[in-house]
Amino acid sequence: MSELTRRHAVGLLAAGLFAPLAGASVGFAAEKLPVVASFSILADFVARVGGDRVAITTLVGPNGDAHVYSPKPADARAVKAAKVVVVNGLGFEGWMERLVGASGTKATVVTASTGIAARELVDDDEDEAPAKGGKAGHDHAKEAHGHDHGGLDPHAWQSVANARVYVGNIRDALIVADPDGKAVYEANASAYLAELDALETEVKAAVAAVPADRRRVITTHDAFGYFAAAYGITFLSAQGVSTETEATPKQVAKLIGQIRKEKIGAVFIENMTDGRLVDRIAKETGVRPGGELFSDALSPKGGPAPTYVDMVRHNVRLMTRAMTGA
Ligand SMILES: [Zn+2]
Repeated sequence: MSELTRRHAVGLLAAGLFAPLAGASVGFAAEKLPVVASFSILADFVARVGGDRVAITTLVGPNGDAHVYSPKPADARAVKAAKVVVVNGLGFEGWMERLVGASGTKATVVTASTGIAARELVDDDEDEAPAKGGKAGHDHAKEAHGHDHGGLDPHAWQSVANARVYVGNIRDALIVADPDGKAVYEANASAYLAELDALETEVKAAVAAVPADRRRVITTHDAFGYFAAAYGITFLSAQGVSTETEATPKQVAKLIGQIRKEKIGAVFIENMTDGRLVDRIAKETGVRPGGELFSDALSPKGGPAPTYVDMVRHNVRLMTRAMTGA
């Protein structure tokens, strides 16, 4: 549709000449497949695979925390109008199931993480030392909001190999919802998958250049378990179990003790969490703040991580720089 026609159609809608609204939307929305993505990283995957054929609504946008989101009436309308709804699953968006149910949508709900090897979480005693990257106790929203996470770490996208699985699931769902676009979705996905392959090679090479005993960093909340397992970096988390509840003084004291004993390259804050605790740990231990990592959300356009590929590159650059003291 030309821009002029589109404006004309919108003008008619605004004037109430098209009724009912739902009937009118078929006329021009049919040009693009309406897709809802629960958060910004999934929206980027959908954009890469769907290209011009999809119209994406992102519920939790850049720098947003999808663990603790409260859906708005506009979100329910977008979900109702969608043909495809893409979610992470693994208990990440505890609010999503109710939103989908309440919206009355007929959309296909795609769980993008289907088929990845999910990491089990170990339940941490409150007084335990903060979890290490490999076996983290990270069930934020469960603690804070009473959601049951099923004991799995939701942050699977932090491994690029898992991101490839996400992309394959999204491609397959778009083809089912819009078979005419099959060739386009397949071509877009295969170009993007090749890009992700190259990205993963780049990440492995960057980490391999860091001496093994220096591959340790500290983050605010424990979102890098898959990254740690895939690439061999140990993450110590200051906050541990929740983006909502504060670390106890005992947890902080233990972590500070651990930092003083071990070689820790840097402490990082994340784009969607409060960095004051990390600032304090940095001051008390003399370990320098390494900057802002992107864990659960992209940056806005123009920021350091507006796409998934940018996000991974940015995080790896910051971590390797801090770990090598460059
Ligand atoms: Zn998280």
